[in-house]
Amino acid sequence: MRILYVEDEKFLADAVKHNLEKSGFDVDLAYDGEEGLNAAIKDIYDCVVLDIMLPKLSGIDILERMREKKISTPVIMLSALSEVEDKVRGLNSGADDYLAKPFKTVELVARINALARRPAAVQDRKISYAGLEYNIDERALNGVSMTTKEADIIHELLKTPEKVVKKEYLLSKVWGGEAYGEDNYIEVYISRLRKLLKELHSDVKITTVRGFGYKIIKG
Ligand code: CA
Repeated sequence: MRILYVEDEKFLADAVKHNLEKSGFDVDLAYDGEEGLNAAIKDIYDCVVLDIMLPKLSGIDILERMREKKISTPVIMLSALSEVEDKVRGLNSGADDYLAKPFKTVELVARINALARRPAAVQDRKISYAGLEYNIDERALNGVSMTTKEADIIHELLKTPEKVVKKEYLLSKVWGGEAYGEDNYIEVYISRLRKLLKELHSDVKITTVRGFGYKIIKG
């Protein structure tokens, strides 16, 4: 499960990330509200954990903007024990759960797992770019389904359009531990994806940045 944890106390953030990873979660950290909101919008998570008191944007601001954008990922709010008012505001803004600080990681793990067991809300998990629409659940690009690895690659490229995605990063994301010595496979999949883009009559191209990686761009 992928978790986004937005927390400005770096020491706490790093410690909780470490413990959550030991429990088998994939954790992305953001250290301020803006960074947190960007990650919550751009990426797909199974659960978002938001501290309330954050620089730039509060946890409640992030939650409200996520819900405005119809992102229905379960959210757990964190706040100091005394801030009862924050709890009420958080839950009113559409948080799914609330945990008082200080907390034990086992408690947080239990809350995350409880939310994950809830029936998933029907949601549009899609990324759009320049006339392309990638459906994450169906692994389909403009309605055409792809193999798992093709889908994973296009997903990674579409997360940061017009920016170079490093080849090593793609290898580790898509092939994980099996990545060693498989760089040529990527080329094969990239050329299949280029063919698919052509078939879709898309203006979008995947360009090779020699010695570095790939990026997806408009025409
Ligand atoms: Ca804080």
